[in-house]
Amino acid sequence: MKTLTQRDQQHIWHPYTQMHTAAPAIPIVKGSGAYLFDENGKRYLDAISSWWVTLHGHAHPYIAEKVAAQLLQLEQVIFAGFTHPPAIELAEVLLALLPPAQKKVFYTDNGSTAVEVALKMCLQFWNNKGQDRKKVLALTNGYHGDTFGAMSVSGRSVWTKPFEGLLFEAVFIDPPTTANLPELKSFISHNAADTVCFIYEPLVQGSAGMLMYSPDCLDSLMHHCRKEGVLMIQDEVFTGFGRTGKNFASDHLKEFPDLMCFSKGLTGGTMPLGVTTCSQEIYDAFLSENQHKALYHGHSFTANPLACTAALASLELLLCAETQAHIERICQKHSGFLIKLQKHPRIRTVRQIGTILAMEWETGMETSYFNGFREKLYPYFLEKGILLRPLGNIIYLLPPYCMNNEDLDYIYVAILSALEEN
Ligand SMILES: *Cc1c(COP(=O)(O)O)cnc(C)c1O
Repeated sequence: MKTLTQRDQQHIWHPYTQMHTAAPAIPIVKGSGAYLFDENGKRYLDAISSWWVTLHGHAHPYIAEKVAAQLLQLEQVIFAGFTHPPAIELAEVLLALLPPAQKKVFYTDNGSTAVEVALKMCLQFWNNKGQDRKKVLALTNGYHGDTFGAMSVSGRSVWTKPFEGLLFEAVFIDPPTTANLPELKSFISHNAADTVCFIYEPLVQGSAGMLMYSPDCLDSLMHHCRKEGVLMIQDEVFTGFGRTGKNFASDHLKEFPDLMCFSKGLTGGTMPLGVTTCSQEIYDAFLSENQHKALYHGHSFTANPLACTAALASLELLLCAETQAHIERICQKHSGFLIKLQKHPRIRTVRQIGTILAMEWETGMETSYFNGFREKLYPYFLEKGILLRPLGNIIYLLPPYCMNNEDLDYIYVAILSALEEN
């Protein structure tokens, strides 16, 4: 009989993987809390929340129970011309948690499509107003997904290179710092009249290597965008749902955006779902007797009732005192470890916001996704039963909130040993 690995290799093409050289994929047959189990019963601590999605742990019984009940009630219904209770309730719950300007919810099924919709809303907003605007501002090194619009507003890299000629041109500006703010502001003022929108990952640029920048600087930049009439898309696909220590990155900010994008932790990491929210002003620009002014965008599984139900259950868990205490606990544990790392000669820099801790290793080479260091460290941690997926020489921790202190300590110790041994 063929093993799961052999059957996988025969038929499956994995994401972000050079299939020619990659080690075979590890078949996972069970998840529970912060653990994943392979077919031989080997346990892995999921220290990256399975690509940043898992919030409350794997196979959470509460979410499972709610989804199972919904599955027997209503599994799917066309969302044009029809609606359903989970979508309505989720919109109510989510909007109540967001900054005041967010008034409408548009559903999709992943982070990239949530971004596509936000971009299309902004482009058509101006179009519906009879203005021909083309410039989209984005941050250098940003990441907003892998579909064409999302790639277009993401930093140009090895990932986007083969498609470069077909991406629309975005205007890239550096993340704001006290030093460059005056320059960024004058650039924005100069370009505001033909700018469609500004899209950014708030406070943390995840895929770029957990690069962090200050809420004060972002506030200042957002304030300026508001003054100049530049629409803002805040991509909280990664930062949403407690990762930064608060429910949303926007909870660290005084200013608020015009549109927001969510996915990943939205369903607690159980099912695919995307959300784009927008202000009344955006929404109103599509209202017309003229059919041409509607937003012609939708996906077969728009607002899938099971995914909406999972999101509602996950939000309930997120907001309860116990989870909030876990988030606080992880923030503090990380801060303690950060102090240790700061003094370590092999650590170039270390940074933290909330439950996200990232460190750059001194490798004698430039920091980059392909600097080869990853190829050593990834198997090193797997061997120790820890799933960590370094971005080049940047190691980051992003635990599900249920991860206990012993498991966090186990990972910290493994990182310290790796520093000695690699
Ligand atoms: C992951 C990510 C996306 C894309 O989400 P997918 O569901 O993977 O398509 C978009 N924006 C940010 C900030 C992300 O981290």
